[in-house]
Amino acid sequence: MLVATKDGTCRECGGQLKIVDVDDATMTVECLECGDNYPVEPDAFGDGCMTYYAEVALRGESDEDEEDW
Ligand SMILES: [Zn+2]
Repeated sequence: MLVATKDGTCRECGGQLKIVDVDDATMTVECLECGDNYPVEPDAFGDGCMTYYAEVALRGESDEDEEDW
């Protein structure tokens, strides 16, 4: 799931982030620009966990563009 750039961007380069995994305490994001991959808090994007964390947790982390393992 992509993160809107108004909500948060890559800590390294400011590029757009994609949420690639979630667990009980963190979300893992990956930058579309530089490929950096790191965990963030569920509320890292200031949405009260309801937009990104809940969405990914409900849907599961594997969606349409996860085949690049
Ligand atoms: Zn980046």
